[in-house]
Amino acid sequence: MTKALVVGGGIAGAVTAMALRQAGIESVVYEAYPTGADDIGAFLTIMKNGMNALRAVQAHQPVIDASFPATDVEYIDGTGTLLGLNPMRGDAHTIRRAVLYRVLHDEAARRGIPLEHGKRLVSATEADDEVVATFADGTTATGDLLVGADGIHSCVRALIDPAAPSPRFTGLTIAYGYTRATSFEPSADAYRMIAGKNAFFGYTTSPSGETWWFSRAPSLDLDTATSQNFIDLLSEDDTPAAEIVRTTGDLFINNAYDVPETPHWHSSRMVLVGDAAHAASPAAGQGASMALEDSVILAKCLRDIPGLEAAFARYTNIRRARVEKLVADSAAQSNRQGQSVRPDPTERHWLYDHHIDWQEPIS
Ligand SMILES: Cc1cc2nc3c(=O)[nH]c(=O)nc-3n(C[C@H](O)[C@H](O)[C@H](O)COP(=O)(O)OP(=O)(O)OC[C@H]3O[C@@H](n4cnc5c(N)ncnc54)[C@H](O)[C@@H]3O)c2cc1C
Repeated sequence: MTKALVVGGGIAGAVTAMALRQAGIESVVYEAYPTGADDIGAFLTIMKNGMNALRAVQAHQPVIDASFPATDVEYIDGTGTLLGLNPMRGDAHTIRRAVLYRVLHDEAARRGIPLEHGKRLVSATEADDEVVATFADGTTATGDLLVGADGIHSCVRALIDPAAPSPRFTGLTIAYGYTRATSFEPSADAYRMIAGKNAFFGYTTSPSGETWWFSRAPSLDLDTATSQNFIDLLSEDDTPAAEIVRTTGDLFINNAYDVPETPHWHSSRMVLVGDAAHAASPAAGQGASMALEDSVILAKCLRDIPGLEAAFARYTNIRRARVEKLVADSAAQSNRQGQSVRPDPTERHWLYDHHIDWQEPIS
């Protein structure tokens, strides 16, 4: 039986392993960190197309159970004026990143898929009939193929092509936080997106009454950036944004990068999925959903196309145009202040209505 080494136990890694299992390919997932990703403070929304990919491998229910639905997006300017409302088009769910990792790991474990923590890939060698992965702890693993699901700073991407472009700094610093304060108008169900004078701000309120928020600002020094930087930037607006930050305890602050183009997605036995192949700036909120689509399409190609390289080539061919368009769109949605332009909802069908039919063969 074919054996895959899946490097990275994030969103793409866990779901690729489940999709491969469904395609009759066994895998072991190798995750660098002892418990998951380092940026566990953030949250994200899985859009309709991402939920559709999860449904193709019957992994949607644990995610639905651990999340809350997002129905609409309201766009507001710095004076508090409503600019418009975009529907989420159904089946979108907001979830903490750490919780998403945990439920996907639990689901993989329930299906008998091994996941080894503390395994940071440092190199890999390909031979005619196998690929050997070497980890930082000196151990090795051997398989028929290796899937690089190791995120935006992918080691596998550099192993496939040492000349692959590095992630591009978007010029934006992003903050995330949570507050239970009630000194501002909550936003249940809908995301409220505020294009402020100096920074962009988005928030939604969970069914338990906790407000989840993020803000995008022009580049800040990560060594010194604090909540006060965001309060100062947001205070000029006539919106609840500054008050929400003021009432928040710990903030998660990081810089935003994207990967607009990766010339080579695969070698003879190694292939990239998710952020390792392509990463979008956060504006479109589609990185996780695109990673989920990749995972399922790759498994379908390996199921239906004889020969690893031919299957990898078909997978790349199916995915490349769609994800590169998304990355370009997402970059265009944010200007240097991190503002999101309200996307025309009638032009988003290509994004949200993407459907994967597991049974339909890949030709
Ligand atoms: C702050 C922030 C907010 C975001 N908000 C959204 C949003 O609202 N909606 C959305 O769809 N997307 C969002 N995204 C993007 C989304 O998180 C990513 O697109 C998604 O996580 C990609 O999944 P992945 O599995 O490819 O990578 P990751 O989730 O990053 O997983 C990669 C995994 O590989 C592991 N790893 C790395 N190197 C190695 C190695 N050498 N060996 C072994 N393991 C390794 C990592 O520890 C990690 O667990 C956001 C991203 C950030 C940073």
